[in-house]
Amino acid sequence: MGVRMSMPLVSIIAPVKDEEEAIAPFVARVGQVLDGLRNPDGSVVGWEILFIDDGSTDRTMAAILVAHDADPRIGALSLSRNFGKEAALSAGIDNARGAVVIPIDVDMQDPPEVIGAMIDKWRDGYEVVYGVRRNRMTDSLPKRLTADLYYRAHNWLSMDKIPEHAGDFRLLDRKVVEVIRRMPERNRFMKGLFAWSGFRQTAVEYDRAERAVGTTKFNYWKLWQLAIDGITSASTAPLRVWSYLGAIIAVVALVYAVFIGLRTIIYGADVAGYPSLMVAILFLGGVQLLSLGILGEYVGRILVETKHRPIYIIRQRVGCDDADQRDAG
Ligand code: UDP
Ligand code: MG
Repeated sequence: MGVRMSMPLVSIIAPVKDEEEAIAPFVARVGQVLDGLRNPDGSVVGWEILFIDDGSTDRTMAAILVAHDADPRIGALSLSRNFGKEAALSAGIDNARGAVVIPIDVDMQDPPEVIGAMIDKWRDGYEVVYGVRRNRMTDSLPKRLTADLYYRAHNWLSMDKIPEHAGDFRLLDRKVVEVIRRMPERNRFMKGLFAWSGFRQTAVEYDRAERAVGTTKFNYWKLWQLAIDGITSASTAPLRVWSYLGAIIAVVALVYAVFIGLRTIIYGADVAGYPSLMVAILFLGGVQLLSLGILGEYVGRILVETKHRPIYIIRQRVGCDDADQRDAG
């Protein structure tokens, strides 16, 4: 594999925001799964768990330190504030040392038992093995519908298709990790970055469980923001559609102008037409504001990219040394 002996084969990266009760059960269950893994020659598999504390305000870090004291293969990066899950995942990907890297949520919605099947596929030669939720019955109906709608819109607008019902739970080969690490953008819509990177990809199915402890950290507003981040980073179609719409409206307007002109010449001028005038003004006003707003979404993102600020800032490292690791950005 070209990976040094001291390096773990499997790196689990888990972003955590206010998950103090989830750490211990997560470590117990994932640790058990990882200890059960075997190399083809029958030897045990080296592993590490890297938590990324995304600006937790509860005792999440204390819980991680307890786990680290019990098992030094468990480490953490503590970010200087809440940077969001996508940035936290970037921090994990930048600092994981394994030949394969597996992002997973800490709330046990994604069953770690699937990791064995993912590694089998990886040994078969796949570089990305993403988990696909067989059913999303544990998500509420509105969440399922909006997620569905989003995947459709994204894949319709974008060249790189993201697999439907796949979350961030997936296995990434070191080659893919290095590609993601080299991506300079601040907008870290990870599912889009994974899709863009290509490679041989395959799926394993699993049933998504209810959240074991704690509450969801995503409300609909945050999901909406994530959706816009995803589409604007993957596609410029929303920017370009306005020139076509404008051209169509211009042609229609020209035809209508000719019609009005002829009618005026033949029948003379009348002052009717207030409703059609209002409709045209309001409709075009709305279309113009909408297109301006979409332009604004892209311009705002260009501004963020040009500032070249780091994607995240690490305040503290626990059990993962700095050597030859990129710090931020
Ligand atoms: N998370 C994070 N930063 C945030 C929000 C969430 O690191 O700003 C983590 C969270 O602790 C969890 C994972 O991202 O491990 C998924 O969050 P959650 O389970 O709340 O999302 P859902 O499953 O409801 O979509
Ligand atoms: Mg969850």
